[in-house]
Amino acid sequence: MGRGTPATNEAVRQRIRGAGLRCTAARVAVMHHLETASGPLTHAEVAEALHDFGFDRATIYRNLIELTEAKLAARVELGDHVWRFEAKRAGGGHKGDDHPHFVCTACGEVSCLDDVQVAITPRPGKSRSRTGPSPGKTIAAVTEVLLKGRCERCE
Ligand SMILES: [Zn+2]
Ligand SMILES: [Zn+2]
Repeated sequence: MGRGTPATNEAVRQRIRGAGLRCTAARVAVMHHLETASGPLTHAEVAEALHDFGFDRATIYRNLIELTEAKLAARVELGDHVWRFEAKRAGGGHKGDDHPHFVCTACGEVSCLDDVQVAITPRPGKSRSRTGPSPGKTIAAVTEVLLKGRCERCE
């Protein structure tokens, strides 16, 4: 794993500086860890992974929040009332930020589906007449798309 190579860390530092934050060791480590993860991570997972670097849980949490407020990271809630954090894609604002997530119901691993787009379309044949109360809920905005199933390893 190319963890902590100077080149990657320099790119991470530039993003942090670009957002107007100082490059503390903990902040760089947290951001780098999020950027190299394959999916969103909980505070506990990040704290555990960076434990060997000597950062305590409170420091990790504060940095996750700061990175989120600086829009370098995003918080994802997948229905289990646990916040997960992930790095916003470099470049920012492109459609990769609105990607669906996949949860493996066997091992619980969450991954980002960067190359997948989920579209919600009305079922064919359903009339869009406005007479009478609609049995379903009308969606105002979809903020998170979550797919569940089994990952390759658990198949
Ligand atoms: Zn799995
Ligand atoms: Zn994601």
